Parts: sequence; C-alpha cells; structure tokens
Amino acid sequence: MLKGISMTTGCILEYIEKNYSKERQIHTFSVRETAVKLAAFYGADKEKAEIAALFHDLFRGVPEKVVNFYVKHLGMDKKYYNNPNLAHGKIAALIMERDYDISDDDVLNAVRYHTTGRPQMSLLEKIIFLADAIEPGREYPGVDNLRALAYKDIDEACLYSMETTVEYIREKGFPLDNDTVLAINYLKGKEGYDGQ
Ligand code: FE
Ligand code: FE
Repeated sequence: MLKGISMTTGCILEYIEKNYSKERQIHTFSVRETAVKLAAFYGADKEKAEIAALFHDLFRGVPEKVVNFYVKHLGMDKKYYNNPNLAHGKIAALIMERDYDISDDDVLNAVRYHTTGRPQMSLLEKIIFLADAIEPGREYPGVDNLRALAYKDIDEACLYSMETTVEYIREKGFPLDNDTVLAINYLKGKEGYDGQ
C-alpha cells in the first residue's frame, strides 16, 4: 500500500529527533499515539494514521521566511505568505510527496487538511484532525468533552473542534480558512450531509 513504509518511518523519526524542539517532538509522538488509537477504534488503517501523524507538523515551527520560501518555490497560493499556521500542512504534504516518496492521497490529504478540515473528509483525515486537537498534552477549555466525543461520534467531534477553533480565530482576529467554514456547513448538513 505505502511504498517503503518502514524506511519512511525511520527517516522521519530521525529527522524529528534531530530537528524538532523537545516540545514538538512530544506533541508529534502524542498525535501518533492518539491517531493510532482512534484508527484502531474506528477500523482505519493504523499504518497510514501513524505516517500522517509523524509528518503532520513537519513545517510547524520553522521560521516564517522559510515558510515563505517554500510558498514561493512550490508555487503555492499567495494567501499562504506570512501565514505559517495555514501553510504548514500544505507544505508538508508537498514535501512528503517530493522528498519522501509518499504518494498515498489519503495520507497526504490528512496532513494537508489537519489544521483547517474540509468538507467530505475521509475517516483518516478526521482522525488526524482530531488527534492533533485531543492528544494528551493539549489543554484548553472543552478538551475533555472533545476527547470523550471523539470516541462517540467522530463527525460531531470534528464539528465541535472546528466551531471552537473558529471562535478562537475570530476572537484573535487571525485569518480564517474558507475550508473550515465549508467543513462546518457540510457537517451541519447544509451541503447534503449523508451521515457517512
Ligand atoms: Fe499543525
Ligand atoms: Fe500538530
């Protein structure tokens, strides 16, 4: 299914240990653990969940000028300039494909949309989105409710998380990605949600 998966896992683990801050290493490994747990619970592919989790924040915490360099050289939309929060998952997905030979669309999309979500997310995309939000190191109002909800109704959990994020983003005046708005509308059934 995934080409050279153990080699890929080895490469990224070494990269994480050499380049990530201690804090980001802990976050990444916690997301991996939570994603694998959710994958087991919902019958998703645990290997894919692990790979997506390990790569999801590959470009988080790199300097903004480096993010901007990639936005330019990878031909990404201008909206990603000076916006590492929205750009980091998109860059990671492009680099996974280019430099790590990962071609599985579901894994790439799980990384690509882990910050924003999007309408019609796959089960793996939902798992990575939620694992990032509920890993044991996360602390914010409502996180325990979200942790419980994640194992009851994964769609409701995604919706809850997205609505909380939007509230936070609006409060702070940060740019809100339209994919999150579309994802919320989709999950609320405004776009013909079919209950999948
Ligand atoms: Fe992230
Ligand atoms: Fe993360």
